[in-house]
Amino acid sequence: MDFLKLIDLILEIIQMPLTYLISPNKRVFFLYMFTSFLLALYVYYRTKEKSSFVHYFFSKTRWLGNSAVVDYGLIFFNSFIKVVILSPLLIYALYIAEGINEYCVTSFGLFNIGWSTGTIVILYTITIVVVNDFFSFIVHYMMHKIPFLWEFHKIHHSATSLTPFTQYRIHPVELILNNVRGLIIKGIITGVFLYLADGRVSILTFIGVNVLNFLFYFFGANLRHSHVKLKYFGFLENILISPFQHQIHHSNEKEHFDTNFGSRLAIWDCFFGTLIKSNNVKELTFGLGEEDKEYNSFLKNLISPFKNLLK
Ligand SMILES: [Zn+2]
Ligand SMILES: [Zn+2]
Repeated sequence: MDFLKLIDLILEIIQMPLTYLISPNKRVFFLYMFTSFLLALYVYYRTKEKSSFVHYFFSKTRWLGNSAVVDYGLIFFNSFIKVVILSPLLIYALYIAEGINEYCVTSFGLFNIGWSTGTIVILYTITIVVVNDFFSFIVHYMMHKIPFLWEFHKIHHSATSLTPFTQYRIHPVELILNNVRGLIIKGIITGVFLYLADGRVSILTFIGVNVLNFLFYFFGANLRHSHVKLKYFGFLENILISPFQHQIHHSNEKEHFDTNFGSRLAIWDCFFGTLIKSNNVKELTFGLGEEDKEYNSFLKNLISPFKNLLK
């Protein structure tokens, strides 16, 4: 690789996380940050918070403290993983989809189920969202239950204060696993729909998925990683994970361990008996408890899993 190409690569890696703030398909897009701020304002006034406005929203220890600095470090490091390892892998989702479609055509012959474009968009959206959410629940559950995987997932849980950027605090090994999971699931479902709809799965089909993502991000997804106790009314928390329910997942209290694994849907936690609803919980502290000091720097978070596994 010549020198100029290396400079380009470094610039691309540095730029990538900065573009998140102006990309509507990213959760930390400035508009979603703003709507999350409005929801946080609502919570602040409704719960009659004792801390001052400035401290509640702009606390220096929260945004620039040790935990946040580790988050930022991992965002940039993972950007390197995305550019070098994950971007070239994306094409495999397409290969999987085409492979599945071809397999179905050779095995069962050409087929067209006769759905309208609208039906395809709706069914494809529901299938992608529900199946993807289910497998992300399963993988997350395994991350907690299998000691080898837990060592890597711990990095997400070692955050002692949460900001919207904590969602990117993932060990590169977990990042790769999550992306591979996502592209296999999307590849398979897209392949099946390509077959059923006789190739009419196009850009249009993804609009439904994008609309649901937009709604999820617009209505406060950023508050999942925050101290803002946004709860949903009673029954809804059996269906959708509220921001506060995800905060419970980050609690260092023993009784909260291994609960609320759900990504967006709470139905899996409900079904497997791992759901905790907001009204049963008051105050939370985040992190790994006694182990926090072993994860108080970027390098420790990056290396600890390997060190612990070698022990
Ligand atoms: Zn977890
Ligand atoms: Zn989290």
